[in-house]
Amino acid sequence: LVELEGDEGVRPVRVGDLAIGGGDLVLAAGPCAVESEDQVEAAALAAARSGARLLRGGAYKPRTRPGDFQGLGLQALRWMRAAADRHGLLVVTEALDPASCDEVAEWADVIQIGARTMQATSLLKAAARSGRPVLLKRGLSATLDEWLGAAEYLAAGGAPGVILCERGSRSFETSTRFSLDVGVIAAARLRTHLPILADPSHPAGRRALVRPLARAAIAAGADGLLVEAHPDPSCARCDGPQALLLDELEDLAREMADVGASV
Ligand code: PEP
Ligand code: MN
Repeated sequence: LVELEGDEGVRPVRVGDLAIGGGDLVLAAGPCAVESEDQVEAAALAAARSGARLLRGGAYKPRTRPGDFQGLGLQALRWMRAAADRHGLLVVTEALDPASCDEVAEWADVIQIGARTMQATSLLKAAARSGRPVLLKRGLSATLDEWLGAAEYLAAGGAPGVILCERGSRSFETSTRFSLDVGVIAAARLRTHLPILADPSHPAGRRALVRPLARAAIAAGADGLLVEAHPDPSCARCDGPQALLLDELEDLAREMADVGASV
């Protein structure tokens, strides 16, 4: 089996000319969901200006209710790819089921596996076969062992790279949407060579908490951040309250670099 454990330090995952976990902190930014060509273009422009290297955005969204906005699918993938290419960004987006992995892999540079499907083994195997590196969100109540077990499915299935992403756990606390687990970032760092990103947006649940959580994650040893940002959060079709305004991305990037330089 593929050995993911060991304390020899981070082994970077290469995506194009980017090395995630290669020493420079990496920022992935963009809307929760791709909603229109203009929206994703505005987000890509702001992301690139802030120094982000990846554009995030959902084409297929794992929503709580079937009546909730499910994403624009292939149209969203096309718009996001074009916006990313215009601004020299790489694309990271979620594949929700095994059937969509090949389509997502055709348009994206990194396949995201969401928290809700972290242990969907048929999805993990399909994502691994798609030929793209995979960003693996931690499940809402997954232990580090379970998270690394899921990563092992990807590595054993032939994924050319696996990037972990801590996005907060379900807890008793209601003042945040989820509880960002900075402890598991530090613990994972001691156990595996996989790069680790942090998503401060979903645990924050509201804009004002995103940057403090981002700083905490970097201080705990994360190799970068995956953040939601939207040109007009009040009109966002999902996760608007936690979306950064586009002109906040530069401040976030500067704080990320400042904290990173001090750890
Ligand atoms: C997302 O990144 O938009 C998302 C759905 O994340 P998670 O799977 O962590 O909830
Ligand atoms: Mn979201």
